Amino acid sequence: MLSAFTYQSLPAHIIFGAGSLAQLNTELERLNCSRALVLCTPQQHQTAQAIVQQLGTRCIGLFDQATMHTPVEITEQALQVYAQHQADCVISFGGGSTIGLGKAIAYRINTTHIALPTTYAGSEATPILGQTENKQKTTIRHPRILPDVVIYDPQLSLHLPVELSVTSGLNAIAHAVEALYAQDRNPISSAMATQGAQALLQALPTLLREPQQLEARSQALVGAWLCGTVLGTVGMSLHHKLCHTLGGSFQLPHAETHAVLLPHALAYNAIAAAEQLQPLENVLGPNLAVGLYELSQSLGAPMALKDLGLQESDLDRAVQLTLQTPYWSPRPLEANALRALLQQAWAGSVPHTT
Ligand code: NAD
Repeated sequence: MLSAFTYQSLPAHIIFGAGSLAQLNTELERLNCSRALVLCTPQQHQTAQAIVQQLGTRCIGLFDQATMHTPVEITEQALQVYAQHQADCVISFGGGSTIGLGKAIAYRINTTHIALPTTYAGSEATPILGQTENKQKTTIRHPRILPDVVIYDPQLSLHLPVELSVTSGLNAIAHAVEALYAQDRNPISSAMATQGAQALLQALPTLLREPQQLEARSQALVGAWLCGTVLGTVGMSLHHKLCHTLGGSFQLPHAETHAVLLPHALAYNAIAAAEQLQPLENVLGPNLAVGLYELSQSLGAPMALKDLGLQESDLDRAVQLTLQTPYWSPRPLEANALRALLQQAWAGSVPHTT
């Protein structure tokens, strides 16, 4: 029987399609903005120049210091540049790190934020900001954090390296997997999660063979939007808790950690959520965890936490930290079973459930 649910949608203004970047200037006009500060990482400085050129006199500068985990010092530097040049909006061009910086600025000074995503992490679709100060990561959820406009142009991800495309895609699929068994799921979130995961699961093998195939890039990007949207609307579970613990306390890299852990978290929860996860069987086969593990392997994804720098001696502490402030999980969290899950993920062995 269908469970009772409450549904609240987030406002979203999405412009999707190959070449849709051309609409950026019109969007600025529509939003009454004429002095944009463009944001990017140092690595994307060169490609961001094309955005600067397209904006012409509507651009007052490029701030290229966006970095992982949105350090508060960097946000303050960007705010100074914003104020010095009397900007009236920010345009974030990049992955979750750059979009995080755009969100941090918009949250503080309530300015207009247009996001141009170039990975599949999905941050642009959520009202959530994770930021760090004195090595402490905190998370804020606020309507002002959600970007005002997202332009999804698959041409912007055409040159996303294959390894990053795979880990970022698996990061997005993780949002969908956990949305399918979320406690506060509803028919819309489940439909979006199913379609988002299926789109990415189908696009990634094509991107491995043909990284610049525009059709597969489009499919992956629409999947990323759907997966990001459910990340912003329903609660995440064990998998995200483990990733936040390993990222926050052991400095493991974001997308790679998601990629390694997902088959193992899926194995843990599949027993308790078989019916909700059933829509993924047509792409992953009847044993979802093993199906995903084999797919990740075939895509060349990282498979073991030990290869990401985690020590075996850290595993007990990771379990303790996970259990100190647990997230709701369809299968209750149990110390021995979690320890076994982490041991398998650490070694990179085939997931199985204890
Ligand atoms: P990222 O933004 O850190 O990018 C990784 C690297 O890839 C960077 O060097 C970047 O410059 C480069 N890159 C990005 N797009 C590229 C492209 N098209 N071509 C070539 N290089 C490219 O990685 P990410 O995985 O997108 O984001 C991770 C961060 O986002 C983490 O800090 C995570 O916590 C955050 N995040 C937040 C949310 C949220 O809702 N708040 C959701 C997902 C991720």
